[in-house]
Amino acid sequence: MTATVGTRHRKRFIGAVLTVVACLAATGCAHPISGMPTTAGSLATASVAGLPATNGPSGPRPGVPDASLPVENSAGGELDTLATNAVADIRAYWKKAFPETFEGREFAPVKRLVSYDSTGSGVQLCKQSTAGLVNAFYCPLDDAIAWDRGRMLPMLESSFGPMAVVTVLAHEMGHAMQHRAGVLDKDTPTLVLEQQADCFTGAFFRHVAEGSAEHFRISTGAGLNNVLGVLNYIRDAPGRTGFAGPRAHGSAFDRISAFQYGFADGPERCTEITADSVKQRTTQFQFWKDAQETDLPINRSSVEIVEESLRRVFADTGAAPPRITTQQLSCPGLSPTSPAFYCPETNTVSLDMRKLHEIAQPPSTDQRKSGYGDFAAYAQVASRYALSVQNAAGLSLDDEAASLRTACFVGSWSGLLVEDPIGRRNPVGKLRIAPGDVDEGVAALLSRDSLIAADVEGDQVPAGFARVEAFRIGFQQGMGACVAKYRH
Ligand SMILES: [Zn+2]
Repeated sequence: MTATVGTRHRKRFIGAVLTVVACLAATGCAHPISGMPTTAGSLATASVAGLPATNGPSGPRPGVPDASLPVENSAGGELDTLATNAVADIRAYWKKAFPETFEGREFAPVKRLVSYDSTGSGVQLCKQSTAGLVNAFYCPLDDAIAWDRGRMLPMLESSFGPMAVVTVLAHEMGHAMQHRAGVLDKDTPTLVLEQQADCFTGAFFRHVAEGSAEHFRISTGAGLNNVLGVLNYIRDAPGRTGFAGPRAHGSAFDRISAFQYGFADGPERCTEITADSVKQRTTQFQFWKDAQETDLPINRSSVEIVEESLRRVFADTGAAPPRITTQQLSCPGLSPTSPAFYCPETNTVSLDMRKLHEIAQPPSTDQRKSGYGDFAAYAQVASRYALSVQNAAGLSLDDEAASLRTACFVGSWSGLLVEDPIGRRNPVGKLRIAPGDVDEGVAALLSRDSLIAADVEGDQVPAGFARVEAFRIGFQQGMGACVAKYRH
């Protein structure tokens, strides 16, 4: 996220955005349906691809004996046990799913499981030493799945919990299945390989969510959201060519869509992920520049730059801009939310700068210092600003529609900060974001306490897929689509 010097000539918003803007400004168009109960089902927030959205327990099942698979070089510690149990469940899943998915082909387990410590002396795998290799990966040459118990697994476990380890290994096993199925050739772009592996990961997690895995369980609410957040941090791409250069893993949008295909429709759907289908879905992103530019610090002058961009993006709605303050003000009838709080009565957004600063830190192995990045912090500010726009239009502020509309509006603001046109829209103001910023935003909105997809009281819908979809719709289609889709 960066603020550029000088302002690029701005074209007016066009098409769909103008329509909504007119709608939002004129009270006739976007009446709140006050008093009418929100039917969660109509927004698909009560279910996650056909399963009820729940916030039950996630993680290793208590009281289940550990799997006994041979693991080379194992230290026998907790993380190796966790990884071995994960591989056992993923393997059991594929034993059944593989012949069903790939026309009766017989399943063969991965030949070698290898644990290593990247901080110690290496072992030879894939014709290289694992010393210093902070990763988990599938090596086709040795038909081996390997994990670094020294740094990678501890980092995943401490930042995201034990299911993060299961996620990474499910993704790696996905690569192993690709190699077995023979669905690939040497020219298959990395982007396709990665998204198919994410899709296979989704298919496996459906199995876990249905209660069918021996060692693990996961809730379809917070548990699954956590897994979706982890996806963004898996960077195992082998040295192949892709469409998108170094970002050949795909954007957070792409990766979560791929996971969702597998979760909703099973592994057969993953085999439909081809170079053509991926290229179609990612067209809008191919002109993005890749670099994550300098971070925007958390201070008063940066807040002013963000405020200016919000004013410009939402100017044509006719809504009076809220006052943004770092003072903590009370608001009748509402408890403050953190790190930002919108008070409809005074049309004020109050910011907790210290908390924003914490969120703006990059992800770290030290949980106490780990944040999501600068964009994630400023997106929280944008979310409260977006509530003021909704308030001015007479839309509801405290229900599921408001939560999703907020995510969608933050998405529409973000979509206008991209350097190169998305569709036919053009950037506004001097604030710019890079692809990594969007990934940060998505990771943050999946977390438990984010405001990006939250209503005025800070309540979020449990289904992460719905949150990400709302953000993506705003990002790609603009405000008009937000109001049309999330009416009530
Ligand atoms: Zn991969």
